[in-house]
Amino acid sequence: MPVVFPFENIYAQLPEQCFERVMPTPVKTPTLIRFNVPLATELNIQFSDADDEELAQIFSGNLVPHNADPLAMAYSGHQFGNLNPQLGDGRAILLGDLYDSNAKLKDIQLKGSGRTPFSRGGDGRSPLGPALREYILCEAMHALGIATTRALAVISSGEHVIRQQREPGAVFTRVASSHIRVGTFQYFAIRRDHVALKALADHVIDRHFPELKSSPESENIYLSLFKNIVKKQAELIASWMNLGFIHGVMNTDNMTVSGETIDYGPCAFIDAFNRKKVFSSIDQQGRYAYINQPAIGQWNLTRLAEAMLPLFMNDTDSEADEKQAIDDATQILNDYVQMHQSAWESGMAKKLGFSSAETSDREIFESLLDLLDESRLDFTLFFRRLSDCTNSNNDTSALFTLFDSPDARSTDGIKQRLSDWISNWQARLREREELKAAEERMKQNNPAIIPRNHQVQAVISAAEEGDYAPFEALLDALKSPYEQHAEYAAYEAPPLPAEQVFRTFC
Ligand code: AMP
Ligand code: MG
Ligand code: MG
Repeated sequence: MPVVFPFENIYAQLPEQCFERVMPTPVKTPTLIRFNVPLATELNIQFSDADDEELAQIFSGNLVPHNADPLAMAYSGHQFGNLNPQLGDGRAILLGDLYDSNAKLKDIQLKGSGRTPFSRGGDGRSPLGPALREYILCEAMHALGIATTRALAVISSGEHVIRQQREPGAVFTRVASSHIRVGTFQYFAIRRDHVALKALADHVIDRHFPELKSSPESENIYLSLFKNIVKKQAELIASWMNLGFIHGVMNTDNMTVSGETIDYGPCAFIDAFNRKKVFSSIDQQGRYAYINQPAIGQWNLTRLAEAMLPLFMNDTDSEADEKQAIDDATQILNDYVQMHQSAWESGMAKKLGFSSAETSDREIFESLLDLLDESRLDFTLFFRRLSDCTNSNNDTSALFTLFDSPDARSTDGIKQRLSDWISNWQARLREREELKAAEERMKQNNPAIIPRNHQVQAVISAAEEGDYAPFEALLDALKSPYEQHAEYAAYEAPPLPAEQVFRTFC
């Protein structure tokens, strides 16, 4: 008994148009790079008898567990604003779903496991670099307290894939509360397949929002479902904004209905703060720039509302019903702005040591971001160092050395304006009698360590040469990002000019 998964295969019981059954394509010489033991334990997977070779066989897709029901999920999506009616898992295969130790259903998906009926021109494979980036980023996001898919394993395939150049191949195993996307709903809406649309929505309610089943009969349960998805996304995107995370490719097929961050492609954390920052090599127009993320979230959710519209109506032939459904959905989409704003403000309040956000705090939040944007100070280090400056007696010199960074700009009087801002903020903490708790609160909400782009890139470069030690070390450093350890101090540093990574690829 090498590895045993308690698969339930609940998604496989949905209408057959929701997926295509397909087996992984074996790889040449699978080698285990990393297996996430604590996560596997949480997932009730039995692996204690398995050695690395057996784990590599399983997580490469070479050995499919007898009780798995592998399938590729169907979905559509708006990519950079343009609808692609036929996407689907082109390089991923859902091995199955199972209940974890909290009785929550989780998907186990292989990414890079070969072609599927949705592969179109693609090879169904994944290069090593993006697989490692996804592993690092999702595990870091989890440790940072952000809702996210997780990394269970990564395998080197022993094969090469052709991208811009020949690159080593990998298979990444992703765990998600589900892989259902805005684009999954769109797939059935476009095809006017209301049977599958309803089955999908019912599955999402059972899986992610079971409490809705006890809501009053008078309410349309699908409208409540929509509202809950909107709220999850409003909060998720606020949590990205609070940490300086740029997803990079917020297409509707890369947005879950569970509210988990998914598809770590050309994503990155901001170093030098700049609201318009874009890293992704494929985002020419800056559609998915840092500051655009909340509005893009609303745009994507509007596409979800359009897809779910038939579910909001009692009679899909009634014009009156349609008008009412549109009004109801529009109201929820308008509420998104406030949901996001209050989640963002509550995150900012914590970053600044306040126990809660007050309306009068808006000015203090926005004026700080204006100063950071103008000065291009390192976003993460600024907030971390600010947590040592809650008291007006504190020495702020460490904070001001951030101006020595090559990216920083000392524009007219900015240091003075920042000093004034700090005095004003300290006075606010004193007024609110929050001085004592503030420092602790700030340290719990402003990480010391984030997966900086240049470090992730260095890890990938070493791994491509066969050295995985930097990958392991970075993962260790990112395990408790809100704690400062002398041994991980090197990971706190922003990139030197020669280390800067301007573009990220998927
Ligand atoms: P992504 O950029 O990962 O969000 O993928 C967008 C779409 O392209 C999805 O339908 C993927 O399954 C598909 N895709 C991306 N890379 C490949 C590949 N190497 N082979 C087949 N399909 C792919
Ligand atoms: Mg099918
Ligand atoms: Mg995707």
